[in-house]
Amino acid sequence: MSESTCDTMMTCFCGEMARCFTSRTPLNPGRRFYRCSKPKIKNCGFWRWEDSSLENSSIEVNLLKSKLEVATLKMENLRELLNSINIDRDNLKKKLESLQSLNYFM
Ligand SMILES: [Zn+2]
Repeated sequence: MSESTCDTMMTCFCGEMARCFTSRTPLNPGRRFYRCSKPKIKNCGFWRWEDSSLENSSIEVNLLKSKLEVATLKMENLRELLNSINIDRDNLKKKLESLQSLNYFM
Protein backbone atom coordinates (compact mmCIF):
# COMPACT_ATOMS: atom_id res chain seq x y z
CA MET A 1 0.00 0.00 0.00
CA SER A 2 1.38 3.38 -0.94
CA GLU A 3 0.11 6.90 -1.16
CA SER A 4 -0.52 8.24 -4.63
CA THR A 5 -2.28 11.07 -6.37
CA CYS A 6 -5.82 10.60 -7.54
CA ASP A 7 -7.82 12.63 -10.00
CA THR A 8 -10.96 12.76 -7.91
CA MET A 9 -11.35 14.45 -4.58
CA MET A 10 -13.36 12.69 -1.95
CA THR A 11 -14.33 13.78 1.53
CA CYS A 12 -14.65 11.36 4.41
CA PHE A 13 -17.27 11.36 7.17
CA CYS A 14 -15.20 13.88 9.17
CA GLY A 15 -15.70 16.30 6.30
CA GLU A 16 -11.99 16.28 5.51
CA MET A 17 -10.22 15.37 2.31
CA ALA A 18 -9.76 11.61 2.16
CA ARG A 19 -6.31 10.34 1.28
CA CYS A 20 -5.74 8.24 -1.79
CA PHE A 21 -3.84 4.95 -1.66
CA THR A 22 -2.99 2.22 -4.13
CA SER A 23 -3.88 -1.30 -3.14
CA ARG A 24 -1.06 -3.88 -3.12
CA THR A 25 -3.16 -6.89 -2.23
CA PRO A 26 -3.13 -9.91 -4.61
CA LEU A 27 -6.88 -9.56 -5.13
CA ASN A 28 -6.82 -5.90 -6.13
CA PRO A 29 -3.33 -5.02 -7.35
CA GLY A 30 -2.89 -1.40 -8.34
CA ARG A 31 -6.49 -0.53 -7.53
CA ARG A 32 -6.81 2.88 -5.98
CA PHE A 33 -8.88 3.62 -2.92
CA TYR A 34 -9.66 6.49 -0.57
CA ARG A 35 -9.44 6.38 3.16
CA CYS A 36 -9.89 8.77 6.07
CA SER A 37 -6.62 10.66 6.52
CA LYS A 38 -6.69 10.52 10.31
CA PRO A 39 -4.70 7.94 12.30
CA LYS A 40 -6.40 4.58 12.89
CA ILE A 41 -7.68 5.29 16.40
CA LYS A 42 -9.27 8.59 15.42
CA ASN A 43 -10.48 7.95 11.90
CA CYS A 44 -14.11 7.77 10.90
CA GLY A 45 -13.84 4.45 9.08
CA PHE A 46 -14.34 5.99 5.66
CA TRP A 47 -13.03 3.69 2.93
CA ARG A 48 -13.96 3.53 -0.74
CA TRP A 49 -12.58 2.20 -4.02
CA GLU A 50 -11.89 4.92 -6.56
CA ASP A 51 -13.72 2.98 -9.27
CA SER A 52 -16.47 1.88 -6.94
CA SER A 53 -19.62 1.63 -9.01
CA LEU A 54 -22.97 0.01 -8.38
CA GLU A 55 -21.83 -3.03 -10.41
CA ASN A 56 -18.71 -3.48 -8.31
CA SER A 57 -20.54 -3.15 -5.05
CA SER A 58 -23.16 -5.69 -6.10
CA ILE A 59 -20.36 -8.12 -6.95
CA GLU A 60 -18.89 -7.51 -3.51
CA VAL A 61 -22.30 -7.99 -1.90
CA ASN A 62 -22.71 -11.31 -3.72
CA LEU A 63 -19.24 -12.38 -2.64
CA LEU A 64 -20.05 -11.52 0.96
CA LYS A 65 -23.37 -13.34 0.68
CA SER A 66 -21.69 -16.53 -0.51
CA LYS A 67 -19.08 -16.20 2.24
CA LEU A 68 -21.92 -15.87 4.73
CA GLU A 69 -23.54 -19.02 3.32
CA VAL A 70 -20.29 -20.94 3.71
CA ALA A 71 -19.90 -19.67 7.27
CA THR A 72 -23.50 -20.64 8.09
CA LEU A 73 -22.91 -24.11 6.70
CA LYS A 74 -19.73 -24.48 8.73
CA MET A 75 -21.63 -23.38 11.81
CA GLU A 76 -24.33 -26.01 11.19
CA ASN A 77 -21.64 -28.67 10.79
CA LEU A 78 -20.00 -27.57 14.03
CA ARG A 79 -23.36 -27.65 15.77
CA GLU A 80 -23.92 -31.23 14.59
CA LEU A 81 -20.42 -32.16 15.70
CA LEU A 82 -21.09 -30.61 19.08
CA ASN A 83 -24.31 -32.61 19.36
CA SER A 84 -22.56 -35.87 18.62
CA ILE A 85 -19.80 -34.98 21.09
CA ASN A 86 -22.44 -34.30 23.72
CA ILE A 87 -24.00 -37.71 23.04
CA ASP A 88 -20.56 -39.32 23.32
CA ARG A 89 -19.98 -37.51 26.58
CA ASP A 90 -23.31 -38.70 27.98
CA ASN A 91 -22.52 -42.27 26.96
CA LEU A 92 -19.11 -42.06 28.60
CA LYS A 93 -20.68 -40.63 31.71
CA LYS A 94 -23.13 -43.55 31.88
CA LYS A 95 -20.29 -46.01 31.35
CA LEU A 96 -18.28 -44.36 34.09
CA GLU A 97 -21.25 -44.46 36.44
CA SER A 98 -21.82 -48.14 35.83
CA LEU A 99 -18.11 -48.86 36.32
CA GLN A 100 -18.13 -46.91 39.54
CA SER A 101 -21.13 -48.82 40.89
CA LEU A 102 -19.40 -52.04 39.87
CA ASN A 103 -16.36 -50.91 41.80
CA TYR A 104 -18.52 -50.21 44.82
CA PHE A 105 -19.76 -53.76 44.97
CA MET A 106 -16.37 -55.40 44.54
ZN1 LIG B 1 -12.51 10.88 8.44
